[in-house]
Amino acid sequence: MTKPLGELESQRAALLHELAQTGDMRRGSINEVYRRCGKDNCACVDPAHPGHGPFYAYTVKVAGKPRRCSFAPARCCRKSSARSPSTNISAPPASA
Ligand SMILES: [Zn+2]
Repeated sequence: MTKPLGELESQRAALLHELAQTGDMRRGSINEVYRRCGKDNCACVDPAHPGHGPFYAYTVKVAGKPRRCSFAPARCCRKSSARSPSTNISAPPASA
């Protein structure tokens, strides 16, 4: 069931070529985040409350360190699906 190394390398090159054809892509991950505001009289004080949100956080490694920035999904995505934000992400924060 094992394949020769040359065949695996060819397969990897073909997959990388196919992946490169998809256009604008960025490294990193996008997570849905809920936050507590910290106000004593807010509903989010209740441990059963999920928190405010969702907000979206884009995380990418810059110079080996994780960098995180939040972003708002595109207006069209907020209307259609809050679970699949679009990519109006600005560049990650510059490394310190
Ligand atoms: Zn709150």
